[in-house]
Amino acid sequence: MNYISTRNSLNNFSFKNVFIKSLADDGGLYIPKSLHKYTQKDLNSFENLQYADLAKKIIYPFMGDFVNEKDLSDIIDKSYSVFRKKNVVELNRVGDRYVLELFHGPTLAFKDVAMQLLGNFYEYYLSNKNEKINIVVATSGDTGAAAIDAIKGKKNINIFVLHPHNRISPVQRKLMTTGNEKNVFNVAINGNFDDCQNLVKAMFADKSFYSSINMSGVNSINWARIVAQSVYYFYSFFLIKDRSKPINFSVPTGNFGDVYAGYLAKKMGLPINKLVVATNQNDILHRAISKGEYTIEKVSETISPSMDIQLASNFERLLYDVNNHDDIKTAMVMKDIKEKGNYFIDKKKLEKINVDFLSARVDEEEVIKTIKNVYDSHKTILDPHTAIGYNAFDKIKLKGNNVVLATAHPCKFPDAIKKSIDQNAELPKELMFIMDEKEKYDIIDNNLDKIKKYIKEKI
Ligand SMILES: *Cc1c(COP(=O)(O)O)cnc(C)c1O
Repeated sequence: MNYISTRNSLNNFSFKNVFIKSLADDGGLYIPKSLHKYTQKDLNSFENLQYADLAKKIIYPFMGDFVNEKDLSDIIDKSYSVFRKKNVVELNRVGDRYVLELFHGPTLAFKDVAMQLLGNFYEYYLSNKNEKINIVVATSGDTGAAAIDAIKGKKNINIFVLHPHNRISPVQRKLMTTGNEKNVFNVAINGNFDDCQNLVKAMFADKSFYSSINMSGVNSINWARIVAQSVYYFYSFFLIKDRSKPINFSVPTGNFGDVYAGYLAKKMGLPINKLVVATNQNDILHRAISKGEYTIEKVSETISPSMDIQLASNFERLLYDVNNHDDIKTAMVMKDIKEKGNYFIDKKKLEKINVDFLSARVDEEEVIKTIKNVYDSHKTILDPHTAIGYNAFDKIKLKGNNVVLATAHPCKFPDAIKKSIDQNAELPKELMFIMDEKEKYDIIDNNLDKIKKYIKEKI
């Protein structure tokens, strides 16, 4: 399989390039040149597979010459052996809908599902090379922990994680900062998540800097993450045996990576009806998908910090499709967004988007109420992000099998849970120790030169 950039479809790239570089030199995002579409017969053959075996089927065609089928199989088995559930995820009925729990990995959020795989991809790639890689990644709270867990202790690779100082929950922070592996560096930036993301983007845009440190990125634009995440859409589809009704997914959304993975599954032939983009009050994607207004506003802090994002990087991949795979048009739109801070999607394009995507915005008070109502009625504790996905199905009424993606374990957000149901959401036993561990992180200003200097000094 070959890949191209959303801003230039002339050059072809291999999976290795796409995975290691993450972002194309022209600033665009990598996408496959073409996709294999599964037939009904193919889909039937996936029906009863275990999660890891299904992942092997879905992921292998994207690999090109990066890895052979046998080695990929070993990498996937190793990656998913660290989850607390044999089949990685779990699907539960909660009221009139399903909740797909994606948080049974080492750091309690869905990001582990892709990140464990990426960590082992790096290890495989570096195993017989004389090469060192430095990962630099921005996190709104969960990516960092998942990436650190996947990379810590691995040879010839360092990881630098930038998080917004005092804007993530203490449990989120402790999951990142309590390890003591020498290849892990945590940096708290005096700024918000978008500031962290902009610093990383600026480093990727500076060729002499990123080449000098052989920098690699694992944020949600990395195509390998998207592919890994598409697997659980397939897996949950096969778990629901009643196929007489359409299937819809509601996805708590920030950077548009997870929901884009559902769209990818649909493009590969999985008969998904609608994907509901559920946002908190940082609702740029809701305004874009419901009214065509992609207009950047200030980020506000919420109790669902992993979704406190304005610029949704992966949206560019959808804009490329909506603009009929026109790379020059996509590059222009992205330039406009960068310079003017807005993009108005015309009616015809919006109709095209709405074939696959609907959206809902859930405010803070509604999040608290949803956690309380779901707990009172069903004795299930949802984390604030998942509550947003759950509530979105109350706003967007769809017939069929409605699946909410549960993106984080409630114990990562104890304050919100306490406020909603006056209960303590406890960490799984095997993670309790982090609460008393010593934390290690450095605080740095929102300043590109200072960060670059810090990284150079550490490697
Ligand atoms: C990252 C994250 C999201 C948002 O996912 P995107 O792929 O950025 O849209 C939602 N919920 C939780 C708990 C997360 O960690």
